[in-house]
Amino acid sequence: MTPAKVPGRLVLLGHPVAHSLSPAFQGAALRAAGIPLAYVAIDVAPEALRAALADLGAAEGAGNVTIPHKAAVFAACDRVTDLARRAGAVNTFWHEDGRLVGDNTDVEGFDAAVRALGTPREGGVVALLGAGGAASAVCTAVERWPGARVHLVARNAARAAALAARFPALVTTGRDVGHATLVVNATPVGLHDEAMPVPVAALPRDADVMDLVYRPGETAWVRAARAAGHRAADGREMLLQQGAAAFARWFGRAPDLAVMRAALDHAG
Ligand code: NAP
Repeated sequence: MTPAKVPGRLVLLGHPVAHSLSPAFQGAALRAAGIPLAYVAIDVAPEALRAALADLGAAEGAGNVTIPHKAAVFAACDRVTDLARRAGAVNTFWHEDGRLVGDNTDVEGFDAAVRALGTPREGGVVALLGAGGAASAVCTAVERWPGARVHLVARNAARAAALAARFPALVTTGRDVGHATLVVNATPVGLHDEAMPVPVAALPRDADVMDLVYRPGETAWVRAARAAGHRAADGREMLLQQGAAAFARWFGRAPDLAVMRAALDHAG
C-alpha cells in the first residue's frame, strides 16, 4: 500500500485545523529526510471537501485527515486498507495511479502509545469512554490483542450500541469502568478545561490510564491519575506515532522519530 513516488502536495485537511501540531513535527521529519515538500494544514469546510479532494487528485497529493472529515474521506476513497475499513474512517491518504487510497494510522498510533505506556495488551480489559471516531480506532486496535476485550461507556446509548454492533465479539456496553486494566478517554472532555471523563477515585486500583486528549502540560485527568499512583499518558504519543506511521505510508520509509518528538515538544 505504499505510494510509488513522492506526492505532489502534502496536506492536513480539517475544520478547524489551525491549532494542529502535525505541521510542526511532519515539517521537521521532512527536513530531516531531505524531502523537498511542505506539510500544509488546510481548513476545509464540509461543503468544500469534494473540491479539495479533486485538487489533491490533480496534484497526486497525500496527507492526513482530521475532524470532521475522517468518515467523509473514507467514503470518497477508491480503495481503503483493511484497517481503515474496520475503523470506518480514514486519517491518512495518498494517490496511486490516480486513485485515492485511504488508511487509518490512528489504530497503529494508539497501539504504539499503549506499548510505550507499558500496559500489557494480551488479555487486557479496556474501559473505553466515548463512542465516536477515536473510540472506533481503539476498538480496531484492541481487536488485534489476543484475548482482550472492550467495555464501552458512552453517554449516547444509541451511538454506543452502534459501535458495539460493529465489534460484537469484542465490545460490551455499560455505565462504569468496572475491572478495567486500561481506561481510555476517547471523548473531548478535558480538552479546554480541567474536567475529567471519570473521577480518579472511580478507577480500578491497578488500571493504567490513556487520555487521547492532549494539551500543554498534560490533561488534569492524566496528572491526577498519575498522582494517585496510576501509569498515565495523554494523547501526544498517539499523535506522534500516527504521524510517524503516516510518513512511512507516504514515503515508504520510517521518519526520524526523535526529530519528530523534539519538534512536537517544542510546538506545544
Ligand atoms: P467524535 O467522533 O466527535 O466522538 C466524541 C465522543 O465523545 C462521542 O461519543 C461523544 O458523545 C462523546 N462526548 C463528547 N462530549 C462529551 C462529554 N462532555 N461527556 C461525555 N462524552 C462526550 O470525536 P473523536 O474523533 O472520537 O475524538 C475524541 C477525542 O479524541 C478528541 O478530543 C480528539 O482530539 C481525540 N483524538 C486524539 C487523537 C490522538 O492522536 N491523540 C486521535 C483522534 C482523536 P455524543 O455522541 O453524545 O456527542
